[in-house]
Amino acid sequence: MGDLRSRHLNGCLRCPLIENENTPEEEYYELLSLRFNLRIVRELSRGHDSVRVERMALEEWLKEVRIDGEHLRHIPLDLGPGIMATLPSGCGMPLIDGNHRAARALRDGSEFFVFILSERETLELLRRSMGRFLADYYWNRMLDSMPHPDDAQRGD
Ligand SMILES: [Zn+2]
Repeated sequence: MGDLRSRHLNGCLRCPLIENENTPEEEYYELLSLRFNLRIVRELSRGHDSVRVERMALEEWLKEVRIDGEHLRHIPLDLGPGIMATLPSGCGMPLIDGNHRAARALRDGSEFFVFILSERETLELLRRSMGRFLADYYWNRMLDSMPHPDDAQRGD
């Protein structure tokens, strides 16, 4: 789809749309059935202290994520920390903003920091991103699930 590509910065689908550079459309991070509105993610993370992510944890996490090598060269150097959410019942702490920054830090051997949203903030985020009904439905399903021993380590 050369036509679609040409509407994005750097001709890269992961980069922002050119006509929306100043008023970006809503961006979402999707994980299984969950949808996270990135504007609200950033709003809720404001004022948090950033936490350094251990290299091992970063390596583990990035095994699960598709990284676009081309896009690594497009992301600005000054984007700041990534953002992790906290799912209930040990369902994990997904990195919902900053996967490419994390991959670049790992590649370059530089440090990577994140803001961590608490469970309460993550639930609020999901409710505002996908509506209260669906958010509560998936949240309750996670609450009912048994923690798995291989789940991502807690960041604290
Ligand atoms: Zn890009």
